Amino acid sequence: MPIFDYSCQACGHQFEVLVRGKRTVRCPSCDSQDLKRLLSAPSLRTSGTRHKSLDSARRRDAAQAKDRMHEQLQYERSHDRHG
Ligand SMILES: [Zn+2]
Repeated sequence: MPIFDYSCQACGHQFEVLVRGKRTVRCPSCDSQDLKRLLSAPSLRTSGTRHKSLDSARRRDAAQAKDRMHEQLQYERSHDRHG
């Protein structure tokens, strides 16, 4: 769902609005409809966050894979030594 940053032209209040359909956006501070949408593209912010968590998840998986490989290597080594 798109969240937009608005700046109220009447009182200067800045706020975020979750825009659903064609609902009229009003300033929560002074109830003015004289608003300016700010250009800080919120969709980029959202996907950026998603990317970051995806990256850390990927890093975690890679670390776990490395651990598993390490364990497997140790097992094979000890197995060779004793067997
Ligand atoms: Zn206002």
